[in-house]
Amino acid sequence: SKPLLKVEGLKKYFPIRKGLIGKTVGHVKAIDDISFYVNEGETLGIVGESGCGKSTTGRTIMRLLEPTEGVVEFEGRDLNSMSANEVRKVRRDIQMVFQDPYASLNPRHTIGKILEEPLIVHGVSNAKERREKVVEFLKIVGLSEYHAKRYPHQFSGGQRQRIGIARALMTNPKLIIADEPVSALDVSIQAQVLNLMQDLQKEFNLTYIFIAHDLGVVRHISNRVAVMYLGKIVEITESEEMYANPLHPYTQALLSAVPVPDPNYKKEQIIIEGDMPSPANPPSGCAFHTRCPFKMDVCTKITPVLAEESTGHSVACHLYTQEGNDDIDRKKQLE
Ligand code: SF4
Ligand code: MG
Repeated sequence: SKPLLKVEGLKKYFPIRKGLIGKTVGHVKAIDDISFYVNEGETLGIVGESGCGKSTTGRTIMRLLEPTEGVVEFEGRDLNSMSANEVRKVRRDIQMVFQDPYASLNPRHTIGKILEEPLIVHGVSNAKERREKVVEFLKIVGLSEYHAKRYPHQFSGGQRQRIGIARALMTNPKLIIADEPVSALDVSIQAQVLNLMQDLQKEFNLTYIFIAHDLGVVRHISNRVAVMYLGKIVEITESEEMYANPLHPYTQALLSAVPVPDPNYKKEQIIIEGDMPSPANPPSGCAFHTRCPFKMDVCTKITPVLAEESTGHSVACHLYTQEGNDDIDRKKQLE
């Protein structure tokens, strides 16, 4: 399969101003030079703590935010160089599902009206056609016709997320960016929504970017997983490989926090100390060095770049660079 979406050197910086309208005194590098692709029909999981830039990545691809720099290609076409009219057409192909469906559904509109709206925006002028499509998609997500007359507050959290998903599907999109779609739901409901999303993916040949804050949630739904830390991708590989052979200390720590189904299997717990530093003032060199149990001298000085360690498995860490190995050798010689 070929990439549906390609992101290259994407940056999103937010200015830090002195006072409300004061001059810019610095930048929050919410996304700092990330590159990845998503193949047609696959799911890329993007995982990291809150503030790592994963939501900003989704919003920048969606053009809800203007990128500071970098290229976003959809079906081989650069979104930056498209006219406003062309971007509007692409918007139909890329839809978003949000973490909190309640906040994203207008409380004063019926579900029917909410689901109809994207059809109106994208020029489906026949009202009967729109109503039929609303009913069709209510059924597809496991609701029924009579729900169209109800209001968001009359639904449970899980049902509201089904409505959020139906709304995203109304324009027959190719790519869905789901930003923590199950984080706000009870664990028992999470599995139902994840199963629904997987069924829909097969039925409609959807491509997903699935954003989550822990590796457990994305494990079964993702073909590949990217781990983000302070605006950068620190590791990316096939899902199986990520769980079997995590290379970055941060990924290892995130994984050691995921509960294992087999109680006889004891895994080594890696505890990372402290909070994530502020993206307004990231640490020098490797941004993870303030929390990394394997920190070396080189880590505070040189930023490790994402590099392929084995086929399809890339990591940004000096444990795998020449500089890092030189550091380890030097230390051995001193001992
Ligand atoms: Fe730890 Fe150094 Fe690797 Fe960063 S580069 S994750 S500080 S070992
Ligand atoms: Mg977020």
